[in-house]
Amino acid sequence: APVVVAIDGPAGSGKSTVSRAVAARLGLSFLDTGAMYRAMTWWMLANEVDVQDADAVAIACGKPVIVSGTDAAGPTITVDGQDVSGPIRSQEVTSQVSAVAAVPQVRARLVELQRGCAEVAERGIVAEGRDMGSVVFPEATAKIFLTASEAARAERRAAELRAKGVDAATITAMAADLARRDAADSSRETAPLVQAADAVLVDTSDLTLEQVIDRIAGLVEE
Ligand code: C5P
Repeated sequence: APVVVAIDGPAGSGKSTVSRAVAARLGLSFLDTGAMYRAMTWWMLANEVDVQDADAVAIACGKPVIVSGTDAAGPTITVDGQDVSGPIRSQEVTSQVSAVAAVPQVRARLVELQRGCAEVAERGIVAEGRDMGSVVFPEATAKIFLTASEAARAERRAAELRAKGVDAATITAMAADLARRDAADSSRETAPLVQAADAVLVDTSDLTLEQVIDRIAGLVEE
């Protein structure tokens, strides 16, 4: 069976950086499933779909063509052929994505795309998100649940944003948003963020990036 490394965890746990680095280290493809939910949300907003209206979102979600490029050296995401890797990180998309991701029809569609990416990955894939181990890849080679203390997560996110030149007020607003988003992702009915029974918990609060990568690569090679 192809190698699938499922990495789940809340926002700011270091998931994206870690997952991409693990994929590069092991020579595997990389899939950021959060980017797919963000791309769907970006398209809804661009097409004036009311994202708080679950029925409207359910009806519209079959329309956009979302394509993920899974090269760990340079992952890409397009919607109807347009590169949206920048716009999907906007504050507006970030604040609305949990509502879109809670709609079962959206999840059904994106889960199918995610499994398709794994099927065509030449050597295997590292897939990161909220429900990789619990729903999308129940037979994964390795399942990791990344956590970090709320303080460590908030600080990491703030540092990322500062590095991008984001101003202090926006950073404060995004920190409040992070807590709200985690609560929404953990309490929704469809595929909530939970640690799969067979996932290994890795707390990254007091580990360096190298230590986390070593730990996960070790779990995959076991
Ligand atoms: O990982 P990221 O923070 O970019 O994910 C954005 C949002 O997409 C999450 O807050 C969550 O609502 C949703 N998501 C999800 N299932 C996944 C990945 C992301 O519901 N597998």
